[in-house]
Amino acid sequence: MTAAADPVLDYDLAGLHARLVQQRGGEVDDSIPELASADPDVVGLAVVTPGGRVVEAGDSDVVFSLQSAVKPFVYALALTDDRDRVAEAVGSEPTGEAFDAIHLESGTGRPANPLVNAGALLTATLVTGDDRAAKSARVLAGLSAFAGTELAHDTTVSRSEQLLGDRNHALGHLMRSEGQLTMDVDEAVGVYADACAVQVSTVSLAVMGATLALGGRNPVTGRRVVSEQVARDTMSVMATCGMYDGSGRWLQRVGFPAKSGVSGSLVAAVPRRLGLGVYSPPIDPTGNSVRGVLACEALSDDLGLHVLQPA
Ligand code: GLN
Repeated sequence: MTAAADPVLDYDLAGLHARLVQQRGGEVDDSIPELASADPDVVGLAVVTPGGRVVEAGDSDVVFSLQSAVKPFVYALALTDDRDRVAEAVGSEPTGEAFDAIHLESGTGRPANPLVNAGALLTATLVTGDDRAAKSARVLAGLSAFAGTELAHDTTVSRSEQLLGDRNHALGHLMRSEGQLTMDVDEAVGVYADACAVQVSTVSLAVMGATLALGGRNPVTGRRVVSEQVARDTMSVMATCGMYDGSGRWLQRVGFPAKSGVSGSLVAAVPRRLGLGVYSPPIDPTGNSVRGVLACEALSDDLGLHVLQPA
């Protein structure tokens, strides 16, 4: 499909934004003070095409922390750095449970998938680097390549995650007792917290999604970030596990790979078609941005984006 013929470029994203801002519902996450103070009325939308064109609407330049929307990208980087170890250490099965469930696969003691906290915590430790600082630098450089712009993490957010992340520490100790996590628990939670605290705009987030959708090559910079196989593996777990215990319904209703975060972030990758970034802080009880889900439903219907759609 040429960029000129791409129906996404004619899509009325401003109209969708206008409808979304009218929608109420959901609560702003209060797990850390920096998230609790988010403005519930901010709504940013951005779409990036295979030709690298950006369509944006609303507060698309407001920055926010990725939170769990970082998880697929950390997984992609870990697969790139140490595929064998990642394949051995983390499953790829949906859990039907909350993102922070204290739960490991029975028998193996592995996290069920890389998109629940246990799995993300473990995969974050499997990127190249000798300690927290080196691994966090590797993650930041990789995320910046996905986004096509220099990203940074907010150290205040990271510190809060580290201090208030009791469940993540608990998961770390559990995985250490199972022999799956070899790094020190505080260091491991630190790498994960730094990753969750990376700041992006919806435009950067959409470019990150588009890089996966285009098989690992950033359509804006033209740079290859991960291999096609890594992009496919990553989108596969996003399709089945990305929206937590809402994932089954998500695949049926929306039908493309996506990942949400408690900041109200949502990234989607529609293979060969587009990358999408949404930011709207109120989240539903499963942890997904209420307006983010509505945006994806509308785009899926209006542009025929369900990947299992016959013809
Ligand atoms: N930082 C959050 C945590 O680990 C991320 C959770 C999320 O966005 N679902 O609890």
